[in-house]
Amino acid sequence: MKVLKFGGSSVAKPERIRGIVDILKGYYTKGEKFTVVFSAFGGVTDSLIEMSTLAAKGDEAYQEHFEAFAARHTQAVHELLDGEYREAVLPELERNNEVLKNLLYGVFLVREASKRTMDYVLSFGERSSAFIISHVLRQSGINAAYLDARRIVKTDKSFGSARVDFKLTYQKIRAHYAQNPDVQVVTGFVASAKGGLTTTLGRGGSDYTAALIAAGLDASVIEIWTDVDGVLTADPRKVKRAFTIPTMTYAEAMEMSHFGAKVIYPPTLQPALLKKIPLYIKNTFNPDFIGTLISDHVDPEATAVKGISSISHVALLTLSGSGLFGVPGTAARLFSSLAAAGINIILITQGSSEHAISFAVQPSMANKARKRVEEAFEYEISMKIINPVKIEEDLSVVAIIGENMRYQPGISGRLFQALGKNGINAVAIAQGSSELNVSVVINRSDEAKALNALHESFFLSDTKELHLFMIGVGLIGSTLINQIRAQAGYLKETRGLEIKVVGMANSRKMLFEESGIDLEQWQDSLQEAATEMDPAIFIGKMKELNLSNTIFVDNTASSKVAAFYEDILDSSISISTPNKIAVSSGFVQYQRLKAIAAKRGVQFMYETNVGAGLPVISTLNDLIISGDRILRIEGVVSGSLSYIFNNFKPGMRFSEVVRKAQELGYTEPDPRIDLNGLDVRRKLIILARETGLPLEAEDVAISPVLPESCRQAATVESFFSELEAADTYFNALLQEAEANGKVLRMVGKLEGSSATIGLQQVGSDHPFYHLSGSDNMIVFTTERYKERPLVVRGPGAGAEVTAAGVFAEIITIGNYLG
Ligand code: ADP
Ligand code: ASP
Ligand code: MG
Repeated sequence: MKVLKFGGSSVAKPERIRGIVDILKGYYTKGEKFTVVFSAFGGVTDSLIEMSTLAAKGDEAYQEHFEAFAARHTQAVHELLDGEYREAVLPELERNNEVLKNLLYGVFLVREASKRTMDYVLSFGERSSAFIISHVLRQSGINAAYLDARRIVKTDKSFGSARVDFKLTYQKIRAHYAQNPDVQVVTGFVASAKGGLTTTLGRGGSDYTAALIAAGLDASVIEIWTDVDGVLTADPRKVKRAFTIPTMTYAEAMEMSHFGAKVIYPPTLQPALLKKIPLYIKNTFNPDFIGTLISDHVDPEATAVKGISSISHVALLTLSGSGLFGVPGTAARLFSSLAAAGINIILITQGSSEHAISFAVQPSMANKARKRVEEAFEYEISMKIINPVKIEEDLSVVAIIGENMRYQPGISGRLFQALGKNGINAVAIAQGSSELNVSVVINRSDEAKALNALHESFFLSDTKELHLFMIGVGLIGSTLINQIRAQAGYLKETRGLEIKVVGMANSRKMLFEESGIDLEQWQDSLQEAATEMDPAIFIGKMKELNLSNTIFVDNTASSKVAAFYEDILDSSISISTPNKIAVSSGFVQYQRLKAIAAKRGVQFMYETNVGAGLPVISTLNDLIISGDRILRIEGVVSGSLSYIFNNFKPGMRFSEVVRKAQELGYTEPDPRIDLNGLDVRRKLIILARETGLPLEAEDVAISPVLPESCRQAATVESFFSELEAADTYFNALLQEAEANGKVLRMVGKLEGSSATIGLQQVGSDHPFYHLSGSDNMIVFTTERYKERPLVVRGPGAGAEVTAAGVFAEIITIGNYLG
């Protein structure tokens, strides 16, 4: 005998019921013996609760809900049944509806819906669905008979979630099935107590009905048919990449369901386990898929963690104080006070210092629990050796579950690493000694992020999703997007890395798409986006989405955006940016950003601030970390100035060289912005700070390249005429250098605590001598690289190389997050 159960989602619409008829006919024609349990049509139980609650409040709107209920069932009959079958069902259904209507009117009159009344009201859901479907099956040629489970499932009178009298129930089941060889079509969820009073088994209880019948009949298998492909590695509504767990043990399934996996109602597993009846979870909408098999077989090859689950709403109560230390029986007193009040405890933790015991309960029970515990410890609290109970709310519990965890060290390490790297604080931790489950209490706002981070870490360790929020889609930003788009396939294939741009903004608009903005048409999407750009709102949204592996990318040169870095890092989000402002402004701010990043365990990366994509800052850091001592750093770190002085050769006019550089776009429209050395100063400050020097802008001595007259000129054109007038001055400088066998270079130099910027003559023994084009060159003279310094050289400006530098940082941060 097989026991099948179809949930509310499987019977939500008449066409779905036809699909079920096909599945059952398959079994029937094969000659398999089976019985089938049905839930109420999807959503019906909720609406029955709603209508009785309204009626009890004296709200006549309950009638509309009732009318909808009646119409939905009558319509299903019309759609599914013809002729004699329809004739047989409609009058019975109408009679039932009449009873329900009167019942609700009674509730309306007395303004009260007790749990007992409510159970009776709810029973109409399953009784209507199973009754209709039993006739649909008959019509399709299956010898089916309707069975009201109140005849076979017997309980106590704990209305709302009654306790089963197993002995009596199994007796009744056996007796009934012995007498009734037809295919029994059973109402799930409903049962009855002594005297025939209607009870229910608790929300989701139809699964339990199926298991009870299976145990009563020693069935060969139970099949729970639902709307997903079995028990998945996590709740698919919260973790999009969850996938089917092929096999699990009863114990694992029990843990999963207790920890919030709604796919099975927890008590279901007990009767199945007792009789060792294998249980399949299958998808009505994908019937050929094997689904999940739950049995007592432990697969030693299975992954250590089978699934991840969560309870979204819990409150954590803590009893603490010196009066707990070394006093036997304290825990017993605490928990018996809760048990006496009927309060269920979700999780318990006690540190070995015995200074505090924390336990999680449903939030609705928190105040009652506090009262009871404080009563139990009234004396100690009055003596001030135990503190009043502390309640923390808005928490969730996430749990990793699996039998094989017990054999494998390092699981908790991985768990906390995944949480920590995503900035998720563990409020409390518990591990059952069975090692079947490790639970962590966290803030509720972090629940989805935690589930996704854990899921990725345990199940998708060779794949990873990065979530990018990018402000600035100008030249560098759009180049970066192109690079990401071009590289997406390769990264996915070789690194299992998927980069999703979830947020994007220019100075006018901002756009968000949790599943990732389509990078083929981001320009249009951003253009059409309805939301005006506001950095505070952009960052607020990024924090609110709270996705795992979030990286913030600032491609602007804006101080307004940089002002948010502190907040972003403090929210445990890593940053990559070519924007120099944050790092090169006040030293105190630089230090604070570094400290916050360290405290939160996130990355703050700005390699592209100096030399664009060239590995300058990382090289410097590597030297320092590996114990080298920096003696001197010299740099030609401005592409514009590099171009100008590399091209200024004898026989040329300096003003001509500058004009050409400007025309070719190597300089700012006003070349003085480059020639005044301020950009070089920013870069020098950054390098100095990386070496640990608390350098401020005023500490850098800039020897002006331009004569006063050029610096004072009011317009760019008048600047150029002044520059022409200064050609002889520059010529003289060049000739003097030439006479010494040297060339002119604009150099930023850091030596000891002195930082200088100015024009220098360099000889052929110096690496700068050979510079060409607009290349940057940074020369590190260190204790280890003293004779021949370490040189980094290459193009130090341009959208391609800068974007590539940011891209590389994104990947580096991604690796760190994994
Ligand atoms: P039914 O109406 O068939 O009883 P339920 O809604 O009670 O179905 O349970 C199935 C739902 O459980 C799925 O649609 C899914 O959203 C949810 N669910 C939560 N956690 C899990 C999980 N780990 N695996 C599968 N489904 C889960
Ligand atoms: N119909 C009931 C509920 O919605 C029982 C079930 O679906 O299992 O809770
Ligand atoms: Mg269910």
